[in-house]
Amino acid sequence: MKELSSYRGRKVVVLGLARSGVAAAKLFHGIGADVVVNDRKERELCPEADELTALGISVVCGGHPEGLVNAATALLVKNPGIPYTAEPVVEAQRLGVEIVSEVEVAGQLSPAPIIGITGSNGKTTTTTLTGVLLEAAGLRPLVGGNIGRPLSDAVREVDPNGWLVAELSSFQLKGTTDFRPRIGCLLNVAETHLDYHGDMEDYVGSKAKLFSNQTDSDIAIYNADYEACVRVTERVKARHYPFSLTKRLAVGVFVDPPYAAIKPGAEGEDEAERWIVSRTEEGTEDRVIRVGELGLPGRHNTANAMAAIAIALCAGAKPEQLVPSLRNFRGVEHRLEFVGTIQGVKYYNDSKATNPMATTMSILSLPSPLILIAGGLDRGSDYMELVPVFRDRIKGLVAIGETREKLGRVAALAGLEAVKLVEPMRDAESTVRRAVEEAAAMAGPGDIVLLSPACASWDMFPSYETRGRMFKQSAHTL
Ligand code: ADP
Repeated sequence: MKELSSYRGRKVVVLGLARSGVAAAKLFHGIGADVVVNDRKERELCPEADELTALGISVVCGGHPEGLVNAATALLVKNPGIPYTAEPVVEAQRLGVEIVSEVEVAGQLSPAPIIGITGSNGKTTTTTLTGVLLEAAGLRPLVGGNIGRPLSDAVREVDPNGWLVAELSSFQLKGTTDFRPRIGCLLNVAETHLDYHGDMEDYVGSKAKLFSNQTDSDIAIYNADYEACVRVTERVKARHYPFSLTKRLAVGVFVDPPYAAIKPGAEGEDEAERWIVSRTEEGTEDRVIRVGELGLPGRHNTANAMAAIAIALCAGAKPEQLVPSLRNFRGVEHRLEFVGTIQGVKYYNDSKATNPMATTMSILSLPSPLILIAGGLDRGSDYMELVPVFRDRIKGLVAIGETREKLGRVAALAGLEAVKLVEPMRDAESTVRRAVEEAAAMAGPGDIVLLSPACASWDMFPSYETRGRMFKQSAHTL
């Protein structure tokens, strides 16, 4: 993207009126661009429109008007959720109009250096923890992007001597051209995405964009346990600072002694005796904290914590400044969140687990036997990769949503006997309540009931948050 000021007096189309669209529209309006905002939703579903029209920004709702993007358009700022096949985007491509996401715009404007965090799973947890660690070290972070405020809002508030900590999705990264984080972090690449996205290259390629403009004064942090992450960073110019659960590293953050695998389950893996160690290019080695002292449960969260530690150290924190926060951080709502012990049964809300890899990691993080509530939006996967964890760790399955029958088949293949498919009831709340009652009926004292759907929520709920809250409410009122 060209310098922001070069869009003064030129037409900029902002596609998608979510919070990030509003922030981008205001930014371009502020520098004197001729901004048109467009959203397919009807005007009454776009409450943000009034604020923009009051500023004199033109807002068109209820469809994409013909000629919205034309030869006079200098830039299209696209909401990351809008596909490249949407009509105005196709038109922009045909006319050679540059298409960017709001992240690209914010990246150009940030007065503070940027920490960009991406990956298939663990972004919110790691980004939130990174904010907490930087705060504890007095490094003045502001967290934004996919969580918190939109980045182009955050750039106006961030302390120029602090850090802009950005959670970035692959869709957001796809819409970048010159975005250059001082510290980039790639957490993992889920095989599940790769299996059924015909376009694996596109998916991994978007993640790789995080590092593509970095120079040797920047830092690339990545998960050395994932072949795809190692490959993506091979030719990156930035200094490498990987992390690993399974290998001692010459430089980076690792577990000592290393684990046998990234998934838990091997015998004799004592977390109390394992240290998270950081090793610098100069060969200085620091024992930061014992794995058993981390406030977050689960092997995947140890990896997330190592990523956040690596980032904080690279940003200038001292290892000892991080320890109290690492002990106290209990995670983010809807991510392996402990709900309570009800009638002797422990309930966990992991509504944010929207793919089989996330659900697998959560199941493996809790002691078995478990009763799992899963299911949701059907995106065409067969969920067969869940067979081994169902067989080894699950005592009963309650399946809801569009994928309930598919998950029922997985359970049958895994030899589960306690399986209940809950048919949709008059509303989502009643369905969740029924599912929780069925799970409670399967559970005995000391068992765990885990909501970890392996699917997105949009078949029944407006969001995974709603799904998680309904689950918690049902558990508390059993
Ligand atoms: P994201 O923001 O990338 O969706 P979250 O931090 O919100 O990630 O976590 C979502 C879910 O993904 C969690 O509930 C957990 O089940 C799973 N998860 C979190 N971190 C990891 C990880 N490093 N590897 C695999 N699964 C993970």
